[in-house]
Amino acid sequence: MTDLDEQYLTAYAKTFLERHYNVKLTIPVVRNNRLRTSLGRFVVSANGTPLRIELSGNVLTYGAESVILGVLRHECIHYAFFKRGIFDTDGDPLFERALRKHRAPSSRTLKVGRFFRFQCVRCGSIGETTVKRVRQNPTSYLSKCCQANIELIGEKVYDGLT
Ligand SMILES: [Zn+2]
Ligand SMILES: [Zn+2]
Repeated sequence: MTDLDEQYLTAYAKTFLERHYNVKLTIPVVRNNRLRTSLGRFVVSANGTPLRIELSGNVLTYGAESVILGVLRHECIHYAFFKRGIFDTDGDPLFERALRKHRAPSSRTLKVGRFFRFQCVRCGSIGETTVKRVRQNPTSYLSKCCQANIELIGEKVYDGLT
C-alpha cells in the first residue's frame, strides 16, 4: 500500500509530460475502483475531448510504487500521442518504443492484486483467480484440467514486481 494520492499523481504526470513531451496536462489523474480490465486508462469523450487519466483501485492498493508510476507514465504517453496527433497505440512500434524509453510497462504484462489460489483435487494442479465468487463458493466450481472439485489453498498478493 502506498500513499500516492490523486494530487501527487496528477503533479507527477504534469511534470513528466512537460519534461519529455513538452505537452501540458489539462486533465486530472483519478482513482477508479471499478476499473477491472486494465490497470489504467486515458479517457476521451465521444467528441474527442480528453477527460481524465484513470488508475485502477487495484493497482493503487496493491501495486508497488514504481509499478504505479510506470502505469501512469504509460497513460501519459497515450495522452502525449493524442495531443500530438500521433495515432500509434498499444502494440504499435512507435508507442512500444516510447514505453521502453520511459521504462513504462506494456499493456497486460503486469500481475497486480489479490489472487485466490486453488488446487484440483484430482491431479493437484494449482490455479489462481481474482474472482471473489470462487473463494466464497468453491464447491460450485470445477477445475479446467479434470472437471473435478477444487480446494482453496490460500491467497497471494502481487505488487507487479514479482
Ligand atoms: Zn496502453
Ligand atoms: Zn486436475
